[in-house]
Amino acid sequence: MAKGNNSEYRKTIDKQYKELMKHCQLHMEQVEKTLPESKEDLHGLLKERGLTRRDFVKWTSVMTAALMLPPIFKPMVAKAAENFSRIPVVWLHFAECTGCSEAFLRSSYPNVDDILLETISLEYHETLMAASGYQAEQNLEKAVKDFAGKFICVIEGALPRGLDGKYLTLGPKGKTGIEVAKEVASKAAAVICIGSCSAFGNIPAADPNPTDCVGIKKAIGVSTVNIAGCPPNAVNFTGTILHYLMFGALPALDNLGRPVWAYGKRIHDYCERRPHYDASEFVEEWGDESALKGWCLYKMGCKGPYTYANCGKVRFNGGISWPVMSGHGCIGCTEPDFWDTMAPLEKPLPDKTYGGGEKTVDNIGIALTGIAAAGIAAHAVASGIRHKGDK
Ligand code: SF4
Repeated sequence: MAKGNNSEYRKTIDKQYKELMKHCQLHMEQVEKTLPESKEDLHGLLKERGLTRRDFVKWTSVMTAALMLPPIFKPMVAKAAENFSRIPVVWLHFAECTGCSEAFLRSSYPNVDDILLETISLEYHETLMAASGYQAEQNLEKAVKDFAGKFICVIEGALPRGLDGKYLTLGPKGKTGIEVAKEVASKAAAVICIGSCSAFGNIPAADPNPTDCVGIKKAIGVSTVNIAGCPPNAVNFTGTILHYLMFGALPALDNLGRPVWAYGKRIHDYCERRPHYDASEFVEEWGDESALKGWCLYKMGCKGPYTYANCGKVRFNGGISWPVMSGHGCIGCTEPDFWDTMAPLEKPLPDKTYGGGEKTVDNIGIALTGIAAAGIAAHAVASGIRHKGDK
């Protein structure tokens, strides 16, 4: 359908959204019948933390927009949030710093996303659970058996392949991380990689990578949803689970396994310093007058033009700020192997890496933004197709 014929185009889009809404309502009815009972009262918890009904309504608007859905989906987003604790989750840790869990759990000013993460039904999480040794292993086996085909496997950390995987062993039986990942992932409804270590290898896989660390997909050959970032934004994780609850399907992904709704555009496209980039107004030295004026950080090594993520749109700590806003350039942490490919972090990339010059930076943006727009259209269609297949 050509966009030129506006009213026909609008009608087609409206029809697709109506179909998607119907599918969403049917799926949510199924969720009510099939998933375990809710263990948490979300609204009670929100009240306890000082968040009002109005805060929750405001959050549903923001999350609906972040998920690139029209406002008619707001009640469904609210319903999915209330059912958030009904999805069983098994959370595995491999080669990483636990920074992703820490970032999600240690918010000073918890917002709805943080509280949703508190309600999550964690059947197994090595950092948070009290059990250890044999008891922990039994807990894991029980969760995988009891919720086979229904639980989400969340993986934090890369997997070392060196020494037949023995650089990382777990539990009293000394299983390798690769063995555990294969056993658990094969029984999960979906595998979500939290952070760039599990998504792409990241810092544990950085040059010279003595343990031969890689991301989960490469290590065990399963499809993964990659919530990239070091650490990622909690919104991108909660939004992905909400999408799964609403549609029974994972959101459309880009060619690196990242949800298009969250990683479909560049940091550069959401950046409040962008007018300064376009006007060639750059910070030349930390603390200079242009830094005080909030000019563009490209010459100080900002990798925003090469990095796909919504940090500038959803921000961190309840939407208060994000790195570029607080004065530090983007380090490209949502891109594969950023520690090596985005170096040096304090300087622009050498021209040879991306073809050279600021003109090329803009051309990359135009080409890839076009790809992202196509992905957004696929979001609705993909969900609908999967639903028909499910039935
Ligand atoms: S280069 Fe960095 S600071 Fe400058 S506009 Fe792009 S993202 Fe913002």
